[in-house]
Amino acid sequence: FDSFCPLGPWIDTEFKPGSQVVTATVNGELKQSAPLSDMVFDVPFIIEFVTKVMTLLPGDVILTGTPSGIGPMIAGGEVVVSVEGLGSLRNRVSNVANQQQREVRTRFAPSPTGDLHVGNIRTALFDWAYARHTGGKLIFRIEDTDRERVTDEYIGRAIETLQWLGLNWDEGPEVGGPYGPYLQSQRLDIYTHWAKTFIANGDAYNCYCSTEELEARREKQRELNQAPGYDGKCRSLSADDIAGYESEGRKPVIRMRMPDGETRFNDLIRGEVTFEHKYVPDFVLMRADGSPLYTLAVAVDDVLMKVTHVLRGEDLLSSTPRQIRVYQAMGVAPEDFPFFAHLPFVMGQDNAKLSKRNGEVSIAWYREQGFLPEAICNYLALLGWSPGDDVENITMDELVKLFTVERDRKSTRLNSSHEFVS
Ligand code: GLU
Repeated sequence: FDSFCPLGPWIDTEFKPGSQVVTATVNGELKQSAPLSDMVFDVPFIIEFVTKVMTLLPGDVILTGTPSGIGPMIAGGEVVVSVEGLGSLRNRVSNVANQQQREVRTRFAPSPTGDLHVGNIRTALFDWAYARHTGGKLIFRIEDTDRERVTDEYIGRAIETLQWLGLNWDEGPEVGGPYGPYLQSQRLDIYTHWAKTFIANGDAYNCYCSTEELEARREKQRELNQAPGYDGKCRSLSADDIAGYESEGRKPVIRMRMPDGETRFNDLIRGEVTFEHKYVPDFVLMRADGSPLYTLAVAVDDVLMKVTHVLRGEDLLSSTPRQIRVYQAMGVAPEDFPFFAHLPFVMGQDNAKLSKRNGEVSIAWYREQGFLPEAICNYLALLGWSPGDDVENITMDELVKLFTVERDRKSTRLNSSHEFVS
């Protein structure tokens, strides 16, 4: 970076930062302007951000040494950074085009308990577009640990619907891949292995509390206006306590220990998100019958399948601190955690989260009405995302070319099915 951006280190040591104004333009357009004293030169952060988040492609420009430390990435542009009273520095793309980068691996991981709905499809479309835009891989994983609700029929229909829409993936149940199997129901021994490892390392523990006991204590928490959640009763049981519970015939669940403190991460759409652990109680990883819960399975798989970018619906935002806890317990270094981008809900006509009550949610319905796959993808792509101008139509090729996560807006509404062009 020093050779790409000589201005940064030089300013720090030679120029003696004061309140001189720095402006940055890209292709003549003013992008940033701020006093030099506000600048942050955090080189490790910049390198991590640029190599992992921005996913450089040949021809992209990064602007560093600017007031925020990071500037826009624009294809084929000329960047000029000027420091008041000092002069200007011009720079071009070619300096960074050969940056080493981690291959992007996104995943679409539905639990089809019925036909895929509009929200699922939009997530799939964005996962696909991001993988294709970056030249990375899309993994299709079926989260079917609940085999009573996720049936073979629904799985088959999900695959068929995605294919009908023109989406394809590089790894998945029917195409295979190096990190399979891609059906969670075929990976149960992997989840058991990790849950046991967490217990052995002291990150998790056996919890013998019965459902009735938990409910009674929760009721008390409600009366006392305390945050509901597990109170840590089984965190440090003695051998005698355990023997007593076992002799009563109780079967334990496995619970993850949440340390005091907070979890902070940078969501690519929402910015920095913080969860205080007093609102994230110790959570169950595995039921008494040995079946894994979502949080365990999803986090273990994202690590083992080497997922770099988790793009998914914002209903899963609050599960993120628990997943990060699982990564930590697996020994994953923070720089190897995936990046998260929580996509806004697709809202129904009454501005409530889309459900069967307030809008047609099933893609199968649109298909039966004669809507074409291109029209559905076009509509969903532009729902909460726009390539910049007031574009009303976008082809799949254009979507791949232009798609960036950051453009997805924070909330989005499905107005009515009539907006589709059939
Ligand atoms: N299987 C989860 C669902 O269908 C999504 C998992 C994820 O994207 O993290 O809601």
